[in-house]
Amino acid sequence: MNYPTAFEDSELDEMAMHETEDSRVFQKFKQKTELEPHQVLRYCRAGSALWVSAQHIPKDKDIPDCPCGAKRIFEFQVMPQLLNHLKVDGPHASIDWGTLAVYTCEDSCDQGYRYSSEFIWKQDFTGELP
Ligand SMILES: [Zn+2]
Repeated sequence: MNYPTAFEDSELDEMAMHETEDSRVFQKFKQKTELEPHQVLRYCRAGSALWVSAQHIPKDKDIPDCPCGAKRIFEFQVMPQLLNHLKVDGPHASIDWGTLAVYTCEDSCDQGYRYSSEFIWKQDFTGELP
């Protein structure tokens, strides 16, 4: 018979803690989006995203600076509700996300007439689904 080692015990504890934190973050997400369940975009420049999970949340160092040298800050997020409007679910092609957070130049630098690429962070659902 195999008894779990202390190491395995602490791993299990950690997993349970992650689950609790995940469901707390997800409950907040649900509560906020229930007010306007069809929202596909949340805009809050210099604010923060409404995360769907406690996992895979970017730290400052994960967000690359703008090519002009300024920091990039959170500007808006694309909600998973948008998936209901896209015809992207099929046997050969399927895309999915929990939320897509878009970070843009803090200085709103002027790139002239050219498009400038910004930074997007994809977070997936973990655990229970909406
Ligand atoms: Zn810039």
